[in-house]
Amino acid sequence: MSTAVIPDSDESRGKIPVPEDVQEAIRTLIRWSGDDPTREGLLDTPKRVARAWKEYCQGYDEDPAHHLSRVFEEVGGYDEIVLLKDIPFQSHCEHHMAPIIGKAAIAYLPTDHVVGISKLARVLHAYARRLQIQERLTAEVAQCIWDNLNPKGVAVVIEASHACMTARGVRTSGVGMVTSRVMGLFRSDQRSREEVLKLMGY
Ligand SMILES: [Zn+2]
Repeated sequence: MSTAVIPDSDESRGKIPVPEDVQEAIRTLIRWSGDDPTREGLLDTPKRVARAWKEYCQGYDEDPAHHLSRVFEEVGGYDEIVLLKDIPFQSHCEHHMAPIIGKAAIAYLPTDHVVGISKLARVLHAYARRLQIQERLTAEVAQCIWDNLNPKGVAVVIEASHACMTARGVRTSGVGMVTSRVMGLFRSDQRSREEVLKLMGY
């Protein structure tokens, strides 16, 4: 008799398989929350939750620096601030695994080369799609640009709200947290720092 494994309908549609122990962990959490994981509406929830988490955390499979590996050297003598602002992102806090939703502004002062502007957002997302704290996310994005583009300065400002604050505990809805990391000239030279923060809208 053939023992071919028949993939379930999700897997045959190209979705990743979810190991049984992962599904069971989510059923345990549903039970612990007070519901019955065997009722109809919750039957497929463990798989959906597991796959959603793979997506929320897909940054673990990415090397953020890779996005900065292709640079353009013909910059026509441009040596002013390059800024990408209002970049929306989603992350999850490592303390509650709850959503962090916000926007970032990322700036650097190039030396002799630049990257495609969308790459700055890709670096942000590669770090955001992990379990994070906002302070570390801010620092990691800045450090990655600093290490890989060899710029004269880097500034990263992130403004976000944390579901672990807004949806539970003190339930302070609408409260945003702002974190920043400035390096190089943006740190040492007050005029440069004021200029970049003003361009960012701070
Ligand atoms: Zn939290």
